Amino acid sequence: MSESVETMSETAVAGGEYQAQIEEFMGTIRDRLVNQPEFLQAVEEVAESVIPVIEKNPRYKEAKILERLTEPDKVFMFRVCWVDDKGEVQVNRGFRVQMCGAIGPYKGGLRFHPSVNLSILKFLAFEQVFKNALTTLPMGGGKGGSNFDPKGKSDREIMNFCQAFMSKLCHHIGPRTDVPAGDIGVGSREIGYLFGQYKNIRNEFVGVLTGKGIEYGGSLVRPEATGYGAVYFAQNMLGTKGDNLEGKTVVVSGAGNVAQYTAEKVIHLGGKVVTLSDSAGYIHDPAGVDTEKLAFVMDLKNNKRGRIKEYAEKYGCEYHEGKTPWEVPCDAAFPSATQNELNEEDAKTLVSNGCFVISEGANMPCTPKATAVFLKAKVLYGPGKAANAGGVAVSGLEMTQNALMLGWTRDAVDNKLQAIMKDIHENCVKHGKDGDYVDYVKGANIAGFIKVADAMLAQGII
Ligand code: NDP
Repeated sequence: MSESVETMSETAVAGGEYQAQIEEFMGTIRDRLVNQPEFLQAVEEVAESVIPVIEKNPRYKEAKILERLTEPDKVFMFRVCWVDDKGEVQVNRGFRVQMCGAIGPYKGGLRFHPSVNLSILKFLAFEQVFKNALTTLPMGGGKGGSNFDPKGKSDREIMNFCQAFMSKLCHHIGPRTDVPAGDIGVGSREIGYLFGQYKNIRNEFVGVLTGKGIEYGGSLVRPEATGYGAVYFAQNMLGTKGDNLEGKTVVVSGAGNVAQYTAEKVIHLGGKVVTLSDSAGYIHDPAGVDTEKLAFVMDLKNNKRGRIKEYAEKYGCEYHEGKTPWEVPCDAAFPSATQNELNEEDAKTLVSNGCFVISEGANMPCTPKATAVFLKAKVLYGPGKAANAGGVAVSGLEMTQNALMLGWTRDAVDNKLQAIMKDIHENCVKHGKDGDYVDYVKGANIAGFIKVADAMLAQGII
């Protein structure tokens, strides 16, 4: 699904008069990060937005804020040994990247997927720094995970792995140090096993993970928060045009946590979701995924661990093996699967088919060339670090509830989520407005950067 990672030299960038400084900065890090293409891609996108700001603010330049932000505070890598159902020893690699703790404890998810490596986790942790700053809550940025593949594993194997992983990770995290959550391959089942093992080893019941079950310190609306937040962000973008999602045809990729709750909220708001996907292909249901069909998908993916193809078999619609859903005509697109899942050709197809709002539920799902197509076409384009910040925002609210030893109502959390997404949107508009058009990429990068940079300046050279 993903294409090879693009570099600045291949991409028309919007650096304008600061192009030379951007190239110079990228030159300094490209050589030492040659094996980390995803991380370089994420840094480059931010550098393009913030180097003009740095050039106008010598304090940021003298303190080498961007150079410091692109070197993690700490990286932990560890061996994870566990025993499978056949009694065989299995060996995986575990990671935790603590990218920047300037504005609060490190915060960011854990990903269990065979593709996980240091480059992917550094890109995710780097994005997380700016995203967390945008939420208005006090959270630094981190990310972690393992190359463990949960697909096809029994519950017992998942538990064995999670316990082995947490036995190593528990030395580096804590409710005031680093608070992980879920991501690809890490849902409520995995968070439960991870939390149980932390409690077992450390002998303390604390909010060291978010996304916990409601019975043991989780927050209402946390499972829904990333998907709902991406839809609220789209509504905010559409609101600038006096429009909304009602009656719109919507294409969603993925069928996991983010995709499911994106679809649910779109349906609530009167939109029609016509696609869902997984790594094997996508389903196209022109009649729309309704509440009943979505319940089938949730059961299929969360309990039966099945494939999206089974939706097409059950409801008699088309299934496109090995393809992504961007060829389906739509008004709005919500990429909600993984990084670089939407390339330049896909972006051109979407725009030429009339798609005019894109809200990223996934992290960095669009390649740089795809992003350039959207910005050139002046469609409403919400980048992940703004549009999918609802998940970590409600994780922040879960931390607050844990610290207070209280649980808020569903409405209270949802109202706070809506207010945070509105705030993020306003902040992006403030820093990204260019004439009639809002460049949300630039707006999100600059707004997040300024908050973190000012905190770093205040805390000295560390
Ligand atoms: P899940 O594991 O619940 O679902 C992931 C979905 O994406 C599955 O349908 C999966 O298909 C598909 N997918 C994963 N990897 C690939 C791949 N390489 N190619 C094609 N399809 C793929 O993860 P989430 O829904 O939690 O996460 C989805 C995205 O949202 C990620 O980018 C994540 O970083 C981002 N995100 C998640 C947040 C959260 O709160 N969960 C918060 C903010 C961002 P298959 O089952 O076949 O692998």
